[in-house]
Amino acid sequence: MSETGAAPSVFSRIIAREIPANVVFEDERLIAFHDIAPKAPVHVVVTPKTEAYADVVELAAGDPALLAELVAAASRIAGELADGQFRLVFNTGPNAGQTVFHVHAHVLAGGLEEGTLA
Ligand code: 5GP
Repeated sequence: MSETGAAPSVFSRIIAREIPANVVFEDERLIAFHDIAPKAPVHVVVTPKTEAYADVVELAAGDPALLAELVAAASRIAGELADGQFRLVFNTGPNAGQTVFHVHAHVLAGGLEEGTLA
């Protein structure tokens, strides 16, 4: 069981190494891995190790320093895997495409189409 009493999220199972993933960054509070269904040449998911926050609004209210760490990690990853420029997407709510309710950012980089938001 997770901190919330619910079943562990798929990302918690990746953190616990119960599900394999191509991890590109990890520290005490965050982990980042390649998305299983990439939507860009570089598509990495960055997520806190805690399950306490379902989405970025909860994270910003509950631990803004952790949100800042996540953004900094996204920037470093985009610099290591692409040219340092990136799109950072937080799907927030099922009607906005969120499927995993363990806050995470999509880092999209490496040759994105100009002028598009998705
Ligand atoms: P959301 O739709 O919640 O914004 O993003 C969830 C993301 O997690 C999706 O892009 C999906 O492809 C990715 N994902 C779901 N399950 C797995 C998995 O088991 N491994 C990896 N690497 N990514 C996953």
